[in-house]
Amino acid sequence: MSDYVKMWEDLGMDLETHDALCQVLPTAFGDVYLSQENRPEGMGFWDFVVSEIHGIRPSELIEAQKNGQKVFGTFCVYVPDEVVIAANGIVTGLCGGSQFWVPGGEKVLPKNTCPLIKASVGARLDRTCPFFRIADIYVGENTCDGKKKAYEILAEDVPMHVMDVPQMKRPEDIERWAHEIEIFAGVVEEQTGNKVTVEKLNEAIKIINNKRKALKRVYDARKADKLPISGKDALLMMQIAFFDDPVRCAEMCNKLADELEQRIADGVSVFPEGTKRILLTGTPLAIPNWKLHHIIETSGAAVVCEEMCTGTRYFENLVDEEQTTLEGQYKALAERYMKNNCACFTPNEGRIDDIIRLAKEYKVDGVIDVNLKFCSIYDTEGFFVERALKEAGIPVLGIETDYTDSDAEQLKTRVEAFIEMLG
Ligand code: SF4
Ligand code: SF4
Repeated sequence: MSDYVKMWEDLGMDLETHDALCQVLPTAFGDVYLSQENRPEGMGFWDFVVSEIHGIRPSELIEAQKNGQKVFGTFCVYVPDEVVIAANGIVTGLCGGSQFWVPGGEKVLPKNTCPLIKASVGARLDRTCPFFRIADIYVGENTCDGKKKAYEILAEDVPMHVMDVPQMKRPEDIERWAHEIEIFAGVVEEQTGNKVTVEKLNEAIKIINNKRKALKRVYDARKADKLPISGKDALLMMQIAFFDDPVRCAEMCNKLADELEQRIADGVSVFPEGTKRILLTGTPLAIPNWKLHHIIETSGAAVVCEEMCTGTRYFENLVDEEQTTLEGQYKALAERYMKNNCACFTPNEGRIDDIIRLAKEYKVDGVIDVNLKFCSIYDTEGFFVERALKEAGIPVLGIETDYTDSDAEQLKTRVEAFIEMLG
């Protein structure tokens, strides 16, 4: 990635510290990803993206900025990309998934903040991630307390708009969310200098729906008895979907899905027969957090589905494409986004129903409920998740972890025991 040094310099990055990150990532990726056998050829695209992770997409974004486009950095699957795209803006995900950035976050945040928040703040303040430098404006949301307060700190360093996500799903909350999306459209128009029109928003809704459909095709392939793709590879595709151009993302995912469907027809599997099938549920796994997938898939099981924001919550449910007024479109967006089931909602029975449904659809042998340390909402909701799974006769293991490797051995022992218990 050395070709990009000038670009990083122009972005005001801390080159020395960033260099240390660039040195560890290829080894980590090689150990976790390139050691797998019989991977789908289509994964070559995502391998390439990772090999140039701080170069290729950032340089595309900078080029787009030179042509007058604005980049919006987001942290949550409730922020509607469609509105930004309708105004010719670009969205990039900003959630930090590496321990590398955590100490930077701890300089300003309490230590008992979840690692995702600490890494996201650290990546910005330590100037070690180009995406955090490039974004013209950050879009936050008041989903959990940690994020809400962290955005106030980030707002001292970068323009920030925070969306007020309702925390219940009554009809009046959905109305309120539609109104909040309309307010967001105003911010987007001001930032980009472009109007959000019915036609433009309709086009954008179709673009993002197509991306959702393509991601779903890959996930559907994971329902097959013979698994054509590892959980690790599916996770990588999903993590990069937050950064990539949505049209290219759909194209590459559809290409991968074609290959996976052919593999299913040919009876090709990346795991030996009888490999136990695991559904992961819980807090998001931002790139490059591959820790748990790697542990599970080197312990004799396969991850077949993620009920997470880096998983089914990102692509399930489409936005109605038939609306003919902005008011109708904002309502349609609000309805779709409110079908997401984040633990910040109360009550959140929809998530429990989703987990049981997905466990059946993906024919899983067991569920691992994973919680990022200090995420109190998912931790607390684990009570209901684990009770419902037990009632449904589905084995479940609750795990709490962070981005460090210090608990990897201990986690592996627990995961292996769980898999063995599945019989
Ligand atoms: S877990 Fe909740 S707060 Fe985090 S990205 Fe998902 S919806 Fe947003
Ligand atoms: S994992 Fe939990 S604490 Fe961390 S950002 Fe997401 S909702 Fe907030």
